Amino acid sequence: PAELKTVEAGKLHMSTNAAFPPYEMTTDNGGFEGIDVEVAEAIAKKLGLELVVDDMDFDAAQVAVQQGKSDICMAGLTVNEERKAVMDFSDTYATGIQVIIVKEGSDVTLDTLGDQLIGTQRGTTGETYCTDDYGADHVVPYDNGITAVQALMNDQVDCVVIDSAPASEFVAANPGLVILDTEYTNEDYAIGFAKGNTALLEAVNGALAELTADGTVQSILDKYIVA
Ligand code: GLN
Repeated sequence: PAELKTVEAGKLHMSTNAAFPPYEMTTDNGGFEGIDVEVAEAIAKKLGLELVVDDMDFDAAQVAVQQGKSDICMAGLTVNEERKAVMDFSDTYATGIQVIIVKEGSDVTLDTLGDQLIGTQRGTTGETYCTDDYGADHVVPYDNGITAVQALMNDQVDCVVIDSAPASEFVAANPGLVILDTEYTNEDYAIGFAKGNTALLEAVNGALAELTADGTVQSILDKYIVA
């Protein structure tokens, strides 16, 4: 295949926020792991590129790809109309559900969210939905999901709205937290590109299709998401 033009020759730069388990997280020795990291590694390999993970805040990870400072944004990134206006998306490779984390024994429900102080991660769909539905006064954005959950533990917020997979990990790691059954919304995750970066998008979609067809994507999901 013709050589793909990337930010750095021979490399595939992925901007992400590595505080979103099990999609992306840091390892003890300073590396990165998770569903997105492994899928990106498999895509990079198919394209003959070396994956480089650029870790930053979630909102910055989106801006980086939009401005051509990274090649792909892979961050449990939800596809929506607002984002389609500023970036292009690959085919979907995973899905997420926004859920509500509360302290055990809390009387918060989906129906009373409008009376609560809701912790979210800055720049996420969870922040947007809660701001649209309940007003900015009810939403406290944090740099990442982990700090939002710490704020809940410290009673600085009444609940946290975040994607289901990281929510399960945060609840498992912090006794005294529970996830409400109520599903707040359903979302598709895809890889983000700078608008008009069609050559790379098509190459990545081709690789993703092969990795989906041969079961690689599913086996990576199964490895990290414990039902
Ligand atoms: N799926 C959510 C979004 O795209 C959250 C992603 C994240 O926090 N990494 O807004």
